[in-house]
Amino acid sequence: MDDYLTADRPTFVTHLECSMTGEHYPADTLHNLSKVGRPLLVRYDLSAVGEALSRDTLSARDTDLWRWRELLPVRRAENIVSLGEIETPLIPVPKSGGERVLVKDEGRLPTGSFKARGLVMAVAMAKELGVRRIAMPTNGNAGAALAAYAARCGIETIVFCPEDTPEVNVREIAAQGSRVWRVNGLIDDCGAIVAKGAAEGRWFDFSTLKEPYRIEGKKTMGLELAAQLGWRLPDAIFYPTGGGTGLIGMWKAFDELEALGWIGSKRPRMYAVQASGCAPIVRAFEAGEEHAERWEDAHTVAAGIRVPRAVGDFLILRAVRESGGKALAVGDPAILKAVDDCARRDGLLLCPEGGATLAAYRQALRDGEVDADEEVVLFNCATGLKYPLPPASATLDRHQVIDFEAL
Ligand SMILES: *Cc1c(COP(=O)(O)O)cnc(C)c1O
Repeated sequence: MDDYLTADRPTFVTHLECSMTGEHYPADTLHNLSKVGRPLLVRYDLSAVGEALSRDTLSARDTDLWRWRELLPVRRAENIVSLGEIETPLIPVPKSGGERVLVKDEGRLPTGSFKARGLVMAVAMAKELGVRRIAMPTNGNAGAALAAYAARCGIETIVFCPEDTPEVNVREIAAQGSRVWRVNGLIDDCGAIVAKGAAEGRWFDFSTLKEPYRIEGKKTMGLELAAQLGWRLPDAIFYPTGGGTGLIGMWKAFDELEALGWIGSKRPRMYAVQASGCAPIVRAFEAGEEHAERWEDAHTVAAGIRVPRAVGDFLILRAVRESGGKALAVGDPAILKAVDDCARRDGLLLCPEGGATLAAYRQALRDGEVDADEEVVLFNCATGLKYPLPPASATLDRHQVIDFEAL
């Protein structure tokens, strides 16, 4: 990363901007939400980026996340704490999905989920801005990624998760040196504890979209997708939506790429996928609302999208509507069936949230919402290995006569 910065142009960030009011905020100081309590977005001098960087220069670089550095907020390479954030592959799933269905397999990232993209960026910025102690609510994967990156640079972390978070996630967080607490509530209840501690000055609040930089890490999914497809975008994207960071981030990435003249104005239809047991965005989408009310009694096997309330709700809804897409809900049985089919027929073990995107795609196909000849990208956000798998209990006594016909 020798050429990460040049003396006269250490970064292209100009300012931060309130996603609701457009009010400007200075870069290079710590921020959580804007004055009106909404997410802050990072803005860049894109015409200067365009002069400094061409698609050819970019293509000559290693394909990892840091190839996009001119479009990222970190000012100094020494603040990057990398665990190897590779470009994730697009895997065709012709049998369980269809001829033109690709899975962007994010399970190959550090800590086994795409939370690594967001947290590698947020932790680098926290380091750059001198944060010493961070607290965060999580459904599992975000906490694990935070713990890993913070451990590497000696930032103290305290993580709160719902008590029924997948066991492997909780243990992974603890193993990576974070103090993790199981809370008898949902992720927004955990978030309330984090907010209270932050208000008392105990720590910096790292909740989804409550600091500005996770979104910048997640937007690399959109940048990468365009580069992988030869500077065009698919017809539709199915994204498992909890806090919506990735969907909002990709939507932002597409605008930045268009401003650079690297892609045209055509956008994919964005499908925000939720579980029927927790579908606040779907309910708001169908009601034509701009904001989503809290979903009570949220439950689903897809822990990562069990988010009853999202502070970026209006940004998710706006992107989905502008794109001509929809918010779709799928039931747990359809999710589990999709995971099972994809593993058995295409050899790719999805996480339940990834299974939700396949289930939603199938539903959309049946409803005529997508055509079989359209190019579609589904996001598998974590490795299926992090979740409980169906039991496999057959045993064989090697001292007995083996009935080979029965094997
Ligand atoms: C966090 C998470 C999601 C939801 O991502 P958002 O960008 O916050 O909506 C989906 N799937 C998995 C596996 C996750 O960990």
